[in-house]
Parts: sequence; structure tokens; C-alpha cells
Amino acid sequence: MISDIFCKIINGELKADIVWQDDDFLVINDINPQAPVHLLIIPKKHFEALHDFIESDASLLGKALLVADKVAKQVGVHDKGYRLILNEGEHGGKLVPHLHIHLLGGKPLGAKIVQ
Ligand code: 5GP
Repeated sequence: MISDIFCKIINGELKADIVWQDDDFLVINDINPQAPVHLLIIPKKHFEALHDFIESDASLLGKALLVADKVAKQVGVHDKGYRLILNEGEHGGKLVPHLHIHLLGGKPLGAKIVQ
């Protein structure tokens, strides 16, 4: 794992290409895009992982999906579709220890792990 770059971006210590934000979420372009559209949907409150969420945070998780659909419309991938990915832990391949959801689109995304 690398350090929590996303808190630094949220605090304004590091620059990022911001696509959308509100009080709860920041959406940025991934620095190393794996598709024509590759966004990161990041809660501004620091959660290292899903295991940090408690019942009262559930609405924030629900909101993350609403934000995803909203920004998919904004960046023009809503009609053709997109894929959301949330990596957790070593086997999930997570690198940045701050919960985030990848939104990929803009081309057919190829093979799915779950067929
Ligand atoms: P993970 O593997 O943790 O699910 O994904 C972390 C993602 O953060 C990777 O896709 C990586 O390219 C992206 N990333 C890492 N550092 C930066 C950065 O400084 N700025 C931006 N915009 N994305 C980053």
C-alpha cells in the first residue's frame, strides 16, 4: 500500500483533476487511466476501508452510487454503460488506503471476472 494520497488531495495539499464534488464526495480523474473514462469516487471523510463504516454511515455508501450515476451522465458514459470497481485488501489489489470506487467507461470494458 502507498500513503493516503486522497486525503492530501481532499485537503488541497496535492493537485488533482476534479470532475465533481460536494460536501461529502470528491470525484477525480485517475492519474493512470485504464479506460477513456476512469474516475475515482472518494468520500471526503476518511475511511480506510469498508470495515471502517458503521451503520450510521450507510447512507453515505448509498450516496456514493447516486454520485456515480450522476457523474456518469456528466462525462457522457451513462447511456452506453460503465463499470464500478471497489478494491479491498491485498487480494483485491487495493493500493491507496482511503475508500474509493473506480468508475470506468468510454469503451467496451472486456472480460468480466464474474461471467
Ligand atoms: P486502488 O488500486 O487502490 O483501488 O486504486 C488506486 C488508484 O489511484 C489507481 O488507479 C491509481 O492510478 C490512482 N492514483 C494513485 N495516485 C494518484 C494520484 O496522485 N492522483 C490520482 N488522480 N490518482 C491516483
